[in-house]
Amino acid sequence: MAGVPMDQREGWIWFDGELKPWKDAKIHVLTHGLHYASSVFEGERCYGGEIFKSAEHTERLIRSAATLDMQLPYSAEEIEAAKRLVLDKNGLTDAYLRPVVWRGSEELSVPARNNKVHVAIAAWVWPSYFSTEEKLKGIRLEWSKWRRPDPATIPHTAKAAGLYMICTLSKDAAMANGYADALMLDYRGYVAEATGANVFFIKGKNIVTPTPDCILNGITRQTVIQLAKDAGYTVTERHMKPEELAEFDECFLTGTAAEVTPVSEVGEYRFTPGNGCRELIELYTAASHPAKAAAAE
Ligand code: PMP
Repeated sequence: MAGVPMDQREGWIWFDGELKPWKDAKIHVLTHGLHYASSVFEGERCYGGEIFKSAEHTERLIRSAATLDMQLPYSAEEIEAAKRLVLDKNGLTDAYLRPVVWRGSEELSVPARNNKVHVAIAAWVWPSYFSTEEKLKGIRLEWSKWRRPDPATIPHTAKAAGLYMICTLSKDAAMANGYADALMLDYRGYVAEATGANVFFIKGKNIVTPTPDCILNGITRQTVIQLAKDAGYTVTERHMKPEELAEFDECFLTGTAAEVTPVSEVGEYRFTPGNGCRELIELYTAASHPAKAAAAE
């Protein structure tokens, strides 16, 4: 399906409680969510028929919406059932899921209290394209010119559309310059996160990752921290200055879409993906794939 526009695919999308043909899952141009970013969303992966950390993603969706003053008209159980229904109706076992919540088109100005809260869930095939060996070559990141904002200026714990404006600007600039992605600093100048993934650094059995006090505390991040600790690594969450990157041997990103992605370059700093990245890729793959997770028990 690569290359087929997102609004032109075949299949079914769960839309406000019912399954709609993919091409009919539309909203009006005067939708509040489009103009004022009153929108939150999730990104989830289903491996071998099981949505990895499904309950955690549903909980974050509801929490993100509540942070933007939006009360979902569905319970967590109903969202869980809807995700299942979307996968089954589309015949998907290995897929990416995109639940989205937004304010509707009842009124169009800054206040949103009279605008209905809508929910849709789509799913499509999005494989992990690269083998471990291919991944271990690492991706190249440039420094973004944009900084993750102060939590006093925007609610960073929500996976909210508005937080992605500078991610898109950063990622597009990086790609135009021949890089795979951009690494952002935060408003204080500390290392923050990539445009859709968290970042980790390895030296021997020590792993350091930025404190999630103004970035998304990713579900993959939390999973990988636990896996690394269980595998005997010391994991430290702390503020990191960019110049400290010179002290580390390996670097990787984590995220639902990125999974564990080794990094070979961040601006002027070089890394050689090796045993640490390999081990964490293997541990994360085993934990997230039900057949492998069962075999490992
Ligand atoms: N940071 C940002 C900005 C993201 O968009 C994502 C992807 N949701 C992450 C981190 C990683 O989050 P998760 O592991 O929950 O997918």
